[in-house]
Amino acid sequence: MTPVSEGLLFGVAGIPHSCPEDSSLKAVELVRQVGLEALELEFVQGLKMGQETAGRIKQAARLQRVKLSAHAPYFINLNAEDRGKRMQSQDLLLNSLRLAALAGATDLVFHAGYYGTKSPEESYKDIKNTLKEILSIARSERIPVRLRLETMGKRKQFGSLDEVLSLCRELYGLLPCFDFAHIFAREGRVNSYRDFLQVFRKAERKLGRSALKDAHIHISGVKYNQTGELKHLDLDDSEFRYDDWLQALADAGVSGTVICESPSLEDDALRLKNLYHNLKEKRIDSGLSE
Ligand SMILES: [Zn+2]
Repeated sequence: MTPVSEGLLFGVAGIPHSCPEDSSLKAVELVRQVGLEALELEFVQGLKMGQETAGRIKQAARLQRVKLSAHAPYFINLNAEDRGKRMQSQDLLLNSLRLAALAGATDLVFHAGYYGTKSPEESYKDIKNTLKEILSIARSERIPVRLRLETMGKRKQFGSLDEVLSLCRELYGLLPCFDFAHIFAREGRVNSYRDFLQVFRKAERKLGRSALKDAHIHISGVKYNQTGELKHLDLDDSEFRYDDWLQALADAGVSGTVICESPSLEDDALRLKNLYHNLKEKRIDSGLSE
């Protein structure tokens, strides 16, 4: 039997373009008005949101039934060679979790950092140790926000699909954020229905069915070269096969949240939402629904 909460919620990262003010509070209302269901609060340039604003956002999201997540600052580097920078990054990630909780976000997405001069193996070990400590502090403070390690698009960044899945398997409390534009751009591959299904199967094999039942996903078009991701594009300006991708999401029975990071934000998010619901209806009509 299929519970009513099955399926995907669609939203945007940051303030939608049609929002009259540069305000996360207004953005919560606007997301619902334009027909979307989720919003990722951008702490990417630093933790500038005050506690009072965070509380008001939490209330507004509850009222509007908008699912909130947040994205930690870009300058976090848990693999920095300088110990001081590593400690600062650790504090910043913990403070991001605390602020996300005040704002009513259920999930916090973050970028782990760069390999720098370290090998991928050494980076993995060091990032794992730091994250273990962060997760243990977050648990002791009972912060009700899930930490989501993002798959990264540049080859110099820690966060291949395998690294993310392995770390999430090893560390209790760590969950993945699947950024499909990044997964595609990192190698210039993973751009067909079969490829997408393989990503979901791999995630299920490593992390269990819950990885697909409560997934957090980023998507946009993407420009890339041999170093990986260069910049985000609108879906129709990119080679990314989003029709196949949505079909794979529907067929693999993935539930959770899709956050659109295209430059056009809500336009692409709504396009994806509508296409996805058309696919789901077709599946129900043909008796394929899970
Ligand atoms: Zn990100």
